[in-house]
Amino acid sequence: MNDHTFTPAYLQLRSGALSDKVREAEETLRKCTLCPRECRVDRTAGEKGFCRTGDKPFISSYSPHFGEEKPLIGRFGSGTIFMGKCNLGCIFCQNYSISHLGEGIEMSFEKLADIMLSLQNEGCHNINLVTPTHQMPMLLRSLLIASEKGLRLPIVYNCGGYESLHSIQLLEGVVDIYMPDFKYADPAMAKKYSGAENYPEFARAALKEMHRQVGDLLTDKRGIAMRGLLVRHLVLPERVAGTAEIIKFIAHEISKNTYINIMDQYHPCFKAFDHPPLNRRITAKEYAEALNLAIKAGIKRIDGVTM
Ligand code: SF4
Repeated sequence: MNDHTFTPAYLQLRSGALSDKVREAEETLRKCTLCPRECRVDRTAGEKGFCRTGDKPFISSYSPHFGEEKPLIGRFGSGTIFMGKCNLGCIFCQNYSISHLGEGIEMSFEKLADIMLSLQNEGCHNINLVTPTHQMPMLLRSLLIASEKGLRLPIVYNCGGYESLHSIQLLEGVVDIYMPDFKYADPAMAKKYSGAENYPEFARAALKEMHRQVGDLLTDKRGIAMRGLLVRHLVLPERVAGTAEIIKFIAHEISKNTYINIMDQYHPCFKAFDHPPLNRRITAKEYAEALNLAIKAGIKRIDGVTM
């Protein structure tokens, strides 16, 4: 059952504000600066930038999902919608068939809105937009249609952390739950493995803005996420991800009450087999080191850890 006392942020906006945001986001597509790559291509005229995505929703799959963090799945699952393609270029991508090979189909805004509503009808606790960054304007347009037809679930912005500040600012009052990755602390590693040297500086700025907007993660009496920030960090072999620095940033510049998922599931995928040390899983010792860093830094909410 959904909590009918909850009103998502986008339904609290003043009349017409969501339409204004949709138009402003769509304008960005004419000279695309949606993400830090700033390709400046006209996506409305068929030009393609790094993400190879046009100006219509491009969706890989959707379903109630039970593999996300506990506060998102509740009893009936997180209403997950996977976007096709991506604005990052991680050589170890665990979803490379979607992000790099472009599995998915282009669909109308109305169809995507219907998908959101169908996930609500199935009892999902939220609409979880996976890899939304390069499709943010299309997602907003579909959200506008869905909200007019009765959507009232919180939006989870489940992104890679490679975000432009202006895009995140535009989402103020629309997104209830931000769930960014923080992948790298070191620009050299971000360049080598994701082709995004400026990733750390943009991720830091984006996380600060997200936290300013929604604060620490809040859950209802059932333990289901309603609003706030949830950060994911994938531990990589031989400290490639810069876990120590990322933990320090979260503890000191965001909040010690940040809900963080320190993930141990790294396994080589896609091109990682040819790039040691990413050609192996992490060891138990590497994972324990990452968890201990977070505990010692005073972070109080670590997914899967009872404090
Ligand atoms: S969203 Fe795509 S086209 Fe736009 S700046 Fe980013 S990578 Fe380039």
